[in-house]
Amino acid sequence: GEALAVSARVAPLGSRLVLLLVEDLTEARRIEAVRRDFVANVSHELKTPVGALSLLSEAVMDASDDPEAVERFAGRMQIEATRLTSLVQELIDLSRVQNDDPLEDAEPVRVDELVAEAIDRCRHQAGTKQITMAAGGTADLHVWGNRGQLAAALGNLVENAVNYSPARTRVGIAARRVTAAGADHIEIAVTDQGIGISDKDKERIFERFYRVDPARSRATGGTGLGLAIVKHVAASHGGEVTVWSAEGQGSTFTLRLPEAGAARDRAHQQPARD
Ligand code: ADP
Repeated sequence: GEALAVSARVAPLGSRLVLLLVEDLTEARRIEAVRRDFVANVSHELKTPVGALSLLSEAVMDASDDPEAVERFAGRMQIEATRLTSLVQELIDLSRVQNDDPLEDAEPVRVDELVAEAIDRCRHQAGTKQITMAAGGTADLHVWGNRGQLAAALGNLVENAVNYSPARTRVGIAARRVTAAGADHIEIAVTDQGIGISDKDKERIFERFYRVDPARSRATGGTGLGLAIVKHVAASHGGEVTVWSAEGQGSTFTLRLPEAGAARDRAHQQPARD
């Protein structure tokens, strides 16, 4: 009786261990595949606009006696060139956040300034969709980090909120201080009433080039690199980015960052004496 009871206790534990091991291997293999795919993805993503540009320039030459067609093709060339430019820029941004130590140039950064900058960046796009943007709770909060990187990260989240939301909805940005494990952090939450993200996709959206709907992402000028940049910036600052979402209802992306506390402010202004 006792032996049976023991093996009954061990068996589920054993199978759970095996399961964990299998999951671990699967995860390692997945990460390796993602890494291998990166170069292939970059090539593919670069080839698409370059190929389009080459075809369009041929079309322009063939249509030289049709000014309206030339204008149409030239317009599309401009769109492809813009796409190429933003892709290259995001690749540069990504490699920068992956390689530079952001805390070398760390300083206290005002949250209200970061939020205002992010809203400014999306004002035009939000305006054309009549999306209302509202911010709250940002007064007197400071995060500790690299201003440029933090602005890029928050900007990406707000940009996505606008891009993946239907017209006449609301994007809210709320900040607050939280104390966890004795340390003060600032949480900046970006909430939209957009298309939402399925549980399956939630696990993958932070990967480089992963897009739930590539056609939709491209149509809004997306590169699939935005959230990978956000994730790197958060991690290198000792923070984290998390997502809550319900399909068809909306999403909340929360950026948690270390607070620029009084001690850090002082350390920044004058080197420690002891
Ligand atoms: P992209 O340039 O395509 O926006 P991101 O890395 O910023 O790339 O996001 C990856 C994917 O995650 C997007 O293509 C989209 O499918 C999904 N996504 C990101 N933010 C949101 C959001 N606020 N609501 C719904 N889907 C989102």
